[in-house]
Amino acid sequence: MTEPLKSVDAQLADVMAVVSPLGGLELTLSDAHGCVLIEDVHASFPLPPFDNSAMDGYAVRADDIRAAAAGAPVVLPVVGDVAAGSTTPYTVQPGLCVRIMTGAPLPPGADAVIPVEDTDGGIAQVAIRRAVPPGHCIRRAGEDATQGTAVLAGGTHLGAAQIGLLAAVGRDRVVVRPRPRVVVLSTGSELVEPGQPLNRGQIPDANSALLTAAAAESGAIAFRVGIVPDEPGILADTLEDQLIRADVIVTTGGVSVGAYDVVKEVLSRVGTVSFDRIAMQPGMPQGFGVIGPDNTPFFGLPGNPVSSFVSFEVFVRPALRRMLGIEQVARPMVRARISEALRSPSGKRSYLRGWVSVEEGVYTVRPVGGTGSHLIASLAASNALIVIPEDTTAVEPGSAVRVMLLERRHQ
Ligand code: AMP
Ligand code: MG
Repeated sequence: MTEPLKSVDAQLADVMAVVSPLGGLELTLSDAHGCVLIEDVHASFPLPPFDNSAMDGYAVRADDIRAAAAGAPVVLPVVGDVAAGSTTPYTVQPGLCVRIMTGAPLPPGADAVIPVEDTDGGIAQVAIRRAVPPGHCIRRAGEDATQGTAVLAGGTHLGAAQIGLLAAVGRDRVVVRPRPRVVVLSTGSELVEPGQPLNRGQIPDANSALLTAAAAESGAIAFRVGIVPDEPGILADTLEDQLIRADVIVTTGGVSVGAYDVVKEVLSRVGTVSFDRIAMQPGMPQGFGVIGPDNTPFFGLPGNPVSSFVSFEVFVRPALRRMLGIEQVARPMVRARISEALRSPSGKRSYLRGWVSVEEGVYTVRPVGGTGSHLIASLAASNALIVIPEDTTAVEPGSAVRVMLLERRHQ
């Protein structure tokens, strides 16, 4: 008698119970990009740091030009130039002005900047054709953030704008949760490196390239080890070698009940990895557990490329997001109207390739390709996975289905 299948939710719960956010590390801004901040960052000086000009123009005393008008310009002598970065300490005395560039510090005495467009652009003296109130075209120190303000809170996911802000407040390093390091290896004696000639019965190793890219897209640092033949000794040695640099190990192939199912053979012995049949299609055989002295999470995914991809999306990606400290571990799910009929096996959750389009907020999805889990071309032509629940066996055209959006444009 075969064991009842384990549910997807039970398997995911077991995975999430094992993984936790990685501890803090101080990283440079470029390394911290995409990571989660775990300190509150305060502005140690005001932002902007000093009053400066918002325009190229002339720093004036607003009172001196209050009579200026298009037909009656006020002419002021220009006593100097302040460029951005300038340290020359000019003072604007009554009746005088200073030519100033965007971002240059406002000279003492001046209380307004008149943009060059409102003048004749003069060098020695300038004719000003407009009156402006005090404060005009001045960016005040601290108007973005005053000194001591918390500009970013712990827990913030650092995208480009947040990295820019950290640099603007003068930080070159911050404490973040580092990216998990994921070691990816493919098992299979039929596999050859992509680009190498194929003998009869051989295929290129697609999975390690696929999963390394998927891990990187999830925010991890991925190491592609590549191919390990179906030989237990070599697999055991390779795992041993790789553990040193891994926060997670992902293998593909060798987890079902074939004669050369090397992952199952080697890791069943360890005792901390279980091999289960999960109520899903594709992706039914799964190995998961911990290995090595640091209890490194180990995922033994099935070998068919689509199975390995779906397994990655369902189990590995959420684990990596949790390790990164990101709250939203799941892909966005939407309800979409399906354009064609679908069938789905009873008692299994199926993940079918689809192409989602959205028009004025309304999602539609078209199934892509067949259901065979070796059909990687149809995977590459999809931007979503249609998720059909365990108890649904048929879906009518026009009905609503749940769809997991992958990282592609939803045209
Ligand atoms: P397995 O789970 O090892 O029995 O493999 C299942 C199927 O997936 C077989 O047809 C394999 O040849 C294929 N397969 C396994 N690993 C890979 C891989 N890395 N790239 C492409 N196909 C693979
Ligand atoms: Mg195999």
